[in-house]
Amino acid sequence: MSDASGQGGRGREKFAAVKGMNDLLPPQIETWQFLERTARDMFGTWGYSEVRTPILEDTGLFVRSVGEVTDIVSKEMYTFTDKGDRSVTMRPENTAPAVRAYLEHGFAQQPVTRWYYLGPMFRYERMKTGRYRQFYQLGAEAYGAGDASQDVENIALAHAYLKAIGVQHVTLHLNSLGDAADRPRYLEALKAHFAPHVPGFSEAAKDTFERNTMRLLDSKEEALRPLVEAAPRVGDFLGEAAARHFDEVKALLSTLGIPFVVDPRLVRGLDYYTRTTFEFVYEPPAGDSALGTAGTVCGGGRYDDLVRQLGGPDKPAVGFAMGLDRLVLLLEALGKRPARRPLLFVATMDGALKAEAVKLVTELRLAGLCVDFDPRGGKVKRQIERASALAARYFAVYGEREHQARTLTLKALDLPDGDPGKETQVGLDGLEDWLRRQ
Ligand code: AMP
Repeated sequence: MSDASGQGGRGREKFAAVKGMNDLLPPQIETWQFLERTARDMFGTWGYSEVRTPILEDTGLFVRSVGEVTDIVSKEMYTFTDKGDRSVTMRPENTAPAVRAYLEHGFAQQPVTRWYYLGPMFRYERMKTGRYRQFYQLGAEAYGAGDASQDVENIALAHAYLKAIGVQHVTLHLNSLGDAADRPRYLEALKAHFAPHVPGFSEAAKDTFERNTMRLLDSKEEALRPLVEAAPRVGDFLGEAAARHFDEVKALLSTLGIPFVVDPRLVRGLDYYTRTTFEFVYEPPAGDSALGTAGTVCGGGRYDDLVRQLGGPDKPAVGFAMGLDRLVLLLEALGKRPARRPLLFVATMDGALKAEAVKLVTELRLAGLCVDFDPRGGKVKRQIERASALAARYFAVYGEREHQARTLTLKALDLPDGDPGKETQVGLDGLEDWLRRQ
């Protein structure tokens, strides 16, 4: 709460939200709710059930799964010791917690399990537009099937969702990292490629070379670009099984009419990926900076070894996570703001008539119609202003005359998409039906 008295002093200081953590407020919350509603509907239809895991997990879960030398684990986690002297971490991602829950509750005994999640994640990141310390992800994970059709189903779900919410200009980038057994040969070749140049690297790049060489391929450093371009490609090091799997994924995507580009540098930042990796990247049309900057809106892939690494049986799995914060910004930039507007705003009179008007509003609301009024009442002029501020479609006064005649005069408000000034007389008995037809 802000300090309205302006006197300051103990107990009256102003507070602000913690840096990097946002309040999600009206009217933008409508866009969030639209994204969430669409996800729940669609993911359910595709056979994915929701799971909600706790915000706090044992720190070891992320160290073991995401990987000790990843940026997330080495520098971005909100980790602290609780009163019971346990090291706990606010989840930086939801794949590992979902696998933990999948094992803990015996789901691994089922042949196939498909889950989705939606909620806040926490990473202590450097701040920039669209990157926050509390951010929201929508993710879908499928356990139990190693077949390429499972990868493609998961990718097709992300694709269908982005389409359903109206995001355009996204391209599917695809790669295969091969199996764990294929990795050492590739890493060796990659190290040999970069090693002679390391003395000239920035400190950060030197560190990445030492700790997680593959991530040099994602580096944003301009100076590294030519070297990265010339680096050996993981696709040339795939074992036979992984190569066949990748071919099947590509063929099936083509069958479903989902376009993609093979991106040999797509390695993703987390250690658990094997075989397929993918990202949906937003690339606004050239010169249209109003539509936001380019960036990844969804990332995912196969992680066939993670369930076993976390103490479970051999269960292949594939999943993705989408950043909702970025999608909200994109939809706003594209001018897609789903707004909940009152269909009718009722101006009330003071005194006994007010009760009648409130009763009418309540009945219409109980019938599922979005109808509003101003509890402060007052001058009709002010009530019209309030109705306009809420972008109500119709406005009506509930006065003595209307009460006696049991008829309202509905006035279309002056909105770009309306029919301003038009007045319609509607009897109270037929009002609900009339509004429903609008
Ligand atoms: P990741 O879990 O790092 O693979 O990220 C998956 C998606 O989550 C990204 O493509 C982003 O859209 C989103 N994301 C990741 N980190 C953040 C963050 N700090 N703030 C906002 N969105 C994020």
